[in-house]
Amino acid sequence: MISRRNLIKQLSAMPLVGGLFTTTAPLLTASAAPALAARNVIKDLGLRTFINAAGTYTAMTGSLMEDEVMETIQATSREFMMLDDVQTKVGEKIAGLTHAESAVVTAGCFSAMTLGLAGVLTGMDQKKVEQLPHLEGTGMKSEIIAQKAHNIGYSHALTNTGCTIIQVETAEEAEKAINERTALMWFLNIQSDKGKIGHQDWVALAKKHNIPTMIDIAADVPPVENLWKFNDMGFDLVCVSGGKAMRGPQSAGILMGRKKYIDAARLSMPPRGSTIGRGMKVNKEEILGMYVALDKFMARDHQKEWKMYEDRVAHIASTVKSIKGVTTETFAPELGNHTPTLRIFWDPAKINLTTKALQEGMRNGNPSIEIVGEPNGISLTTWMLKPGQEKIVATRLKEELSKATV
Ligand SMILES: *Cc1c(COP(=O)(O)O)cnc(C)c1O
Repeated sequence: MISRRNLIKQLSAMPLVGGLFTTTAPLLTASAAPALAARNVIKDLGLRTFINAAGTYTAMTGSLMEDEVMETIQATSREFMMLDDVQTKVGEKIAGLTHAESAVVTAGCFSAMTLGLAGVLTGMDQKKVEQLPHLEGTGMKSEIIAQKAHNIGYSHALTNTGCTIIQVETAEEAEKAINERTALMWFLNIQSDKGKIGHQDWVALAKKHNIPTMIDIAADVPPVENLWKFNDMGFDLVCVSGGKAMRGPQSAGILMGRKKYIDAARLSMPPRGSTIGRGMKVNKEEILGMYVALDKFMARDHQKEWKMYEDRVAHIASTVKSIKGVTTETFAPELGNHTPTLRIFWDPAKINLTTKALQEGMRNGNPSIEIVGEPNGISLTTWMLKPGQEKIVATRLKEELSKATV
């Protein structure tokens, strides 16, 4: 006897045979799903697809979900569930994997920050939840302390709650900035080499004054251990993107940390309305897809993958270096998008090509390829490539660079 779960799995693997099962599984209608699958909306809408040698850029739709994630999304789309049940069960699993007390799937890292702060501000007070983002006269705290070097665009996620950012540079300044209005001390991992105060000192300082801490590690996985490192270190809330290297849904992320803050954050989340988070809905398919993506990511052979990305970079580097005047540099950023990265430079006396012209040549070629423009050359990564695409990227780069040889 075939179980319903396996039936759903088989059906999603064989979209055209749906009709055979209409008597045993009437909800899985034969017509709707296969017809949609057969319709090529990419072509119908004239959308450009491309080989992504750039990286996990939001504008380029992040990353590609793996089959297991898409199968989860498809299979779970055929049943109703209570949204809160899904979040609770998934949250428990994610918390277990990441050494956190609790976790919840949010609409990306940005919304994890807004919602996590909302939880800190309101606690379990329903009235306060409805008052956000208007803080005046409510008794809620209103200031976030952040290092000046960390205060780049993403802190807007925090000011969305009505709070203001108080910038500091030294530990002394941070300590002086703490007062009865201080709600949170926020840390941005990707800028941690720019600020004067390190992770541990930040947490210690906050603990000394009983202030909750939050860290944004949006693009800082891999390394995989970052998924639990900052929970272990004592940050009260950790926010990460789901749709970057973890290859979950692009519109998903994770808020993890202290249970009391996660419980409170959920008061500002769907299905509850009259909240600042009502528009940050994540559907059950993506919540479950995010869990599967995380689980799968943690189980991967990260060393083997690293080697594969390195080999691809090496192939592209050796191909373009055969052109006179081309030099390359291979490195991996320590912070943010930690993956083998290739920079390509050329001598303008030997190759008459601007960075922009090379980018456009690659973009307008067939197949279209996206690379990153840098001040004196281009850079690329190979982790978003499908197997074999590194050969196409190498060949196309060589063509474009050779064409411009003087
Ligand atoms: C990508 C990114 C975000 C936003 O994350 P989303 O998952 O797209 O909401 C926030 N902070 C940093 C440092 C990022 O790189």
